[in-house]
Amino acid sequence: STAKLAKKDTKSSVTFNDVAGLKEAKIEVMEVVDFLKNPEMYTELGAKIPKGVLLVGPPGTGKTLIAKAVAGEAQVPFFSMSGSEFVEMFVGVGASRVRDLFKRAKEKTPSIIFIDEIDAVGRSRGKGGGFQSNDERENTLNQLLTELDGFGPNTGVIVLAATNRPDVLDKALLRPGRFDRHIYLELPTKDEREEIFKVHLRPLKLAGDVKPKDLAKLSPGFSGADIANICNEAALIAARKKEKKVHSHDFMDARDRVVGGMERKSKIIAPKE
Ligand code: ATP
Repeated sequence: STAKLAKKDTKSSVTFNDVAGLKEAKIEVMEVVDFLKNPEMYTELGAKIPKGVLLVGPPGTGKTLIAKAVAGEAQVPFFSMSGSEFVEMFVGVGASRVRDLFKRAKEKTPSIIFIDEIDAVGRSRGKGGGFQSNDERENTLNQLLTELDGFGPNTGVIVLAATNRPDVLDKALLRPGRFDRHIYLELPTKDEREEIFKVHLRPLKLAGDVKPKDLAKLSPGFSGADIANICNEAALIAARKKEKKVHSHDFMDARDRVVGGMERKSKIIAPKE
C-alpha cells in the first residue's frame, strides 16, 4: 500500500483555466500561489506565511480541483490523501500515514499537501463516529496536529484541507497557526453553471443545437461535479447511438440519468422511516 500512496506525489497539470465560477475562492487561493512562488516577498517583511487553509463547501463544488489548480499554477508538487485513508482499523497505521505524508512533502519543498475529507480524522475528539476506535482516531488526529506544529511557518509547505462538515471539526485544528484560514465554495449560480458547462464542453464534438446557456437553465442545484458528469454521460450516449456529434437531446438524456442517480443516492442516504 505504500507503493500506491507514493504514486500520489504528482505534478498537477490543472490550472485556474480549468476552474469555472468560484471567483472569490480563486482570488483567495491566488494568494496561496503567491506564497509558494514568492515567499521572500513576505518573509523579508517579517510576515509569517499561513500553513493551513481549509476549503469548505458542499460535495462536488471543486475543492479538490481548486487545490490541484494551486499546485499547477505554482508548479509545485501535490501530495494528497483522503481523511478516510487515515482511518484504519490497525493501531498506529493512521498516525504513520500522516507522518509519511508530511515527510514526503517536506523533502520536496515548496510543496502542497492536500487532505480531502479532513472531518473523517478531524472530528472533534470524544464524539465517536465511524467504525474506528476513538483512541486510534485520536492518535491520528494528534499526529496531524503535531505535524502541523512541527514545521515552521516559512518552510514552503502549505496544507490545504477540504470538508463539507466544518461544524464537526475539532477546535484544535482551527487554532491560529493551524487551519486558521477558511475559503468557502458554494454551489454554482445559473451563470456559473454556464461557465462550468463551457469548460466541460471543450473536449466534446458538439452539434450546433447545444447551448451552454440552455444547459445551465435546465440544471438548477447541480454541482460542478454533476455538470462534468452530464457532459461525459452525453458523449457516451451519443457514441452508443453512433452519432457523429453530441446533440442537445443527448444532454437531456444524460441529465435525466444523472438526476436519477442523485435521487437513488439520496434514498440510500436517507434514514429509514
Ligand atoms: P467532494 O467534496 O465530493 O470531494 P469536491 O468539492 O472536492 O468534492 P471536486 O472533486 O473538485 O469536488 O470536483 C469533481 C469534478 O467536478 C472536478 O474534477 C471537475 O471536473 C468538476 N468541477 C467541480 N467544480 C468545478 C468548477 N468550478 N469548474 C469546473 N469543473 C468543476
